[in-house]
Amino acid sequence: MLAYRHAFHAGNHADVLKHIVFTRVLRYLNQKEKPYRLVDTHAGAGGYSLEGQYAQKKNEYVEGIARLWDRDDLPELVADYVDGVRQFNPDGKLTQYPGSPAFAQMLLRPQDQLRLFELHNTDHRILASYLGDTKGVQIHNADGFDGLKGTLPPPSRRGAVLMDPSYEGHHDYGRVIASLRDALTRFAEGVYMVWYPQVTKLEAAQLPRRLEALAPKGFLHVRLTVQQLDQQGFGLAGSGMFILNPPYTLHDEMQALMPWLVEVLGQYDGANYLIEQRAA
Ligand code: SAM
Repeated sequence: MLAYRHAFHAGNHADVLKHIVFTRVLRYLNQKEKPYRLVDTHAGAGGYSLEGQYAQKKNEYVEGIARLWDRDDLPELVADYVDGVRQFNPDGKLTQYPGSPAFAQMLLRPQDQLRLFELHNTDHRILASYLGDTKGVQIHNADGFDGLKGTLPPPSRRGAVLMDPSYEGHHDYGRVIASLRDALTRFAEGVYMVWYPQVTKLEAAQLPRRLEALAPKGFLHVRLTVQQLDQQGFGLAGSGMFILNPPYTLHDEMQALMPWLVEVLGQYDGANYLIEQRAA
């Protein structure tokens, strides 16, 4: 039984970081005509209402995308991401937030392929009704960790994977490592993007070092911390994106953006960022 629903969290600070990185990687891949395959192992519903009861319950987008929405000083690369959100809100009012499949749909070219996995039946149904008939897109109501195997290597030998689990229990941390280890044996050259939460769990703290040990040809790790944990040590302090085989341009792009994101999304004086990399 899956309890997690991304609709509660859509457009929060973690989505902002994740989807900026996601956009940068896809823009990089688009520089070459040769087709690529994008695999989203934990796709979610594809898009979310910010006026619906789920988003309204926690209003997390207010401290995320809403802080960027009305600004006229967006750095160019952030503006590119916000433009994606604007395309999803054609009447100009922020009422919907695009999930990773929607960003992919906006950025992929006709020659590219999209493979989406979503285990939750309701979110899968919403996703299938949104993108099910789209050329080049396959949607599976199946486990993305297991399903990834069958998608690699892509026929064109160009590809990227977004792995964005809900980390509901403790198992997802180990499954991230196991499925990436397997994926790298099938497709060592792929770009792998892993999102993880900054929470007080040993598994979360250890994940970056375990990912680093897997990285065959280099990695980039970006973390954005925006808030303090509550008095019991609960909450989401921030989040990280760990990219294996990152585009060589990504480090400098994120280095330029992160101080601005800390400034705009930070909720306390200690808000900060981390960037580390090992180049290929
Ligand atoms: N990637 C989405 C985005 O950026 O818009 C958000 C995904 S959300 C964080 C994680 C999703 O994974 C949830 O919709 C959840 O139902 C789904 N999920 C959980 N376990 C899964 C599994 N083993 N395989 C595929 N999907 C799973």
